[in-house]
Amino acid sequence: MNTKNWQAAMQVIEKIEQAGFEAVVVGGAVRDLYLQKASHDVDVATSALPTEVKALFSTTIDVGIEHGTVLVTDMVEPIEVTTYRTDGTYVDHRRPDAVQFVRTLKDDLQRRDFTMNAMALTRTNELIDLYGGKADIDAKMIRAVGDPVLRFQEDALRMLRAVRFSAQLGFAIEEATMMAIKQHAATIQYVAMERIHAELSKIWTGKYVAIGLASLEQSELASFLPGQFKASQWADFQTEDRIVGWAYLCVLNADFDAQLLTVYKCSNKDKAFVKQVLQAYKALEAGWQPVHYFRYELYALQTAYRFAQWQQGEQTVSFEEIEQNKLALPIQQTSELAVSGHDFMQWTSKKRGPWLKQVLNDALQAVLNGEVANDPQQLKEWLINAFNDEG
Ligand code: ATP
Ligand code: MG
Repeated sequence: MNTKNWQAAMQVIEKIEQAGFEAVVVGGAVRDLYLQKASHDVDVATSALPTEVKALFSTTIDVGIEHGTVLVTDMVEPIEVTTYRTDGTYVDHRRPDAVQFVRTLKDDLQRRDFTMNAMALTRTNELIDLYGGKADIDAKMIRAVGDPVLRFQEDALRMLRAVRFSAQLGFAIEEATMMAIKQHAATIQYVAMERIHAELSKIWTGKYVAIGLASLEQSELASFLPGQFKASQWADFQTEDRIVGWAYLCVLNADFDAQLLTVYKCSNKDKAFVKQVLQAYKALEAGWQPVHYFRYELYALQTAYRFAQWQQGEQTVSFEEIEQNKLALPIQQTSELAVSGHDFMQWTSKKRGPWLKQVLNDALQAVLNGEVANDPQQLKEWLINAFNDEG
């Protein structure tokens, strides 16, 4: 438990209560506390209106004022304070832009997605559990609050959130909840790609990723998402780094141009890294040569190697050995080559042209393969020999 977060939240609650309003910790933090897991954010819900909250603290930021959320920055940690609300009407299976403020916690908890996310904790540590969240957590069960069919009709993202929580917690999705997801799976297409991306990233990094993939397949959501998702291929997969998951998805889809990443709105930086992994993975089939150790960054090499292990199950080289092989290269960067294009032009009296790039590349390869030392004199001899051989 991040105690600083909890302390800050409790201070915020105390202040709001002193002003005559209600305030409690809600959502993920209460779930995580019951699970004895660390929580990254501790959110507060209150009967006070946003303007009333803002009047109580000296520094606040309007992070989502239209949804009733104010960030209080008076304490050691920033705390999100959201006015009790219900979500207004839903259009296109997406959460509404407009919300309605309400004065009771019960109404606020009712709008939340799953029973385990619909609990609240008071400042005196009283657990408010109106929808059986505790029992569902004990039974390792993800269950929609209220009628699952209605809840997924309102907001299709919740279906993917159910799968995401199964990947993070290893819980099963309750039967009626699962049936409703199957029924509405096609509406996942209405959800913004950025939000799908965020949930998938949490699935890849989930401790129970194989269970998450099984839920994704069983719920039929997988059929309505770009790419192929076969749960069996993820059995050994495990990572704390979302980018490793995105790279693995591309490998499993034989998508060596990483086109899926464009569809899923990944950043250019992500794409560049994943392309390295994919190329390294492909090169591994024939075995890595010095040039591969040179070309790809260590993490890409290690990631590609792990994929081969997950796919083929062999494990002969350690991460340390990959690193040592890379470090053992005579040079680490092209700029370390002891000669330049200018030198080659001088030695051959030839004009600049496509040959120059080729010969520089050949020289680099020769140095990497240990055929010639990275030394100007020896590279000059190597060049003269190479030209003699040609002529
Ligand atoms: P995490 O640990 O990943 O942050 P979380 O449960 O805190 O998980 P958030 O997205 O931070 O998830 O949302 C906070 C709370 O808001 C949830 O616990 C839930 O009560 C509610 N919530 C979030 N998204 C939805 C949604 N789409 N529909 C209904 N309630 C939601
Ligand atoms: Mg949260």
